[in-house]
Amino acid sequence: MSASSVLVQAVPRLVGRYASGSGAKLVVLGGIHGNEPAGLRAGERVLRRLQELAPPFAGEIVVIAGNTRALAADRRFLSKDLNRQFTPERVAAIRSSAESERADPEDAEMFELLQVLDAELGAAGGAAYYLDLHTTSAEGIPFVLFGDTLRNRAFADHVPLPIILGLEEQLDGTLLEHVNRQGYVTLGCEGGQHSSPAAVENHASLIWLALYHAGILGTELPEVREARVRLRRARGSRPHLVEVRYRHSIGPRDGFRMEPGFSSFDRVAPGRLLARDVRGEVRARWAGWVLMPLYQGLGEDGFFLASDVQPFWLFVSTMLRRARLAVLLQLLPGVTRHRDREDSLVVDTRIARWFPLEIFHLFGFRKLRWHGPVLIVSRRPHDLSPPTR
Ligand SMILES: [Zn+2]
Repeated sequence: MSASSVLVQAVPRLVGRYASGSGAKLVVLGGIHGNEPAGLRAGERVLRRLQELAPPFAGEIVVIAGNTRALAADRRFLSKDLNRQFTPERVAAIRSSAESERADPEDAEMFELLQVLDAELGAAGGAAYYLDLHTTSAEGIPFVLFGDTLRNRAFADHVPLPIILGLEEQLDGTLLEHVNRQGYVTLGCEGGQHSSPAAVENHASLIWLALYHAGILGTELPEVREARVRLRRARGSRPHLVEVRYRHSIGPRDGFRMEPGFSSFDRVAPGRLLARDVRGEVRARWAGWVLMPLYQGLGEDGFFLASDVQPFWLFVSTMLRRARLAVLLQLLPGVTRHRDREDSLVVDTRIARWFPLEIFHLFGFRKLRWHGPVLIVSRRPHDLSPPTR
């Protein structure tokens, strides 16, 4: 830990809560990246307003800080990105670790965060909803992302921001995916630029909409209606739904430099110069939308490219999943069941040459990893119904 970071005020894990009556619980988490406190400021604002108004309310909202040590230092992370650590394997290892094994600040954060989330989500007798709030280094319009279950889709449908499918599966070990795996309804949101007041406003708007549509807030306050108008206006002419088709991953030796002037949701034509690295120019492979261009030193994602999704495909996907036809996928040539993982399939793309990832997305599967030409996909649990507790 640096000398300057021990001088600053410690950031509390629990920012605040408001509860009244009984019903669902909304867990709001901000600052899993320490230079992104906007979600916490938004949570504080909503909590203050609820105290003032005391509206009809049935349930609870709790606001939790993600990486408290990095928040105190105003850094994305101290030794490693906390929001890439929540793989099933790492979660199990950290849960059973001794305190002496958690000298790394992010390991300590992860242990504390798991305890708090287990307690908060586990204590939610009824349904629990989870918001994971972020901001970006570059200016850009806000958007939402989530693990593509039908339950998450239905909840996200109430939010008039652009929805990005497939972004969460490009990032392994996110907290959003960890909570999603446990069967809670989850949404992630990029609210805007790190220090912009608009990011706080956007996150607050999302929280109001979530409270109302989760059935916790019992009346459609002016705050809810204003939130809808604000987010619809922020979306402007962008599509409601896009799907990520490319991630430009980078390492420290790539010398990656994004070309100046890009924001999330800029439309680009094929061949457009996007960035440069040690190998030369990086250009767009097809027409689409640039997402999360990297203009800061830290990170493993240079940018993403997304394409529009036609509503028809969404409808097809819903029908296929409701009909529970995924079992038929094993009959396709080149597809076999994973030996150890019940919900996973192994796809040999030398045999299965028909857009494998797109097909499996339709059926609610998520990419796990590529081994050369072999793709491993896993069915998202709790697609249609919550777990029984
Ligand atoms: Zn973030």
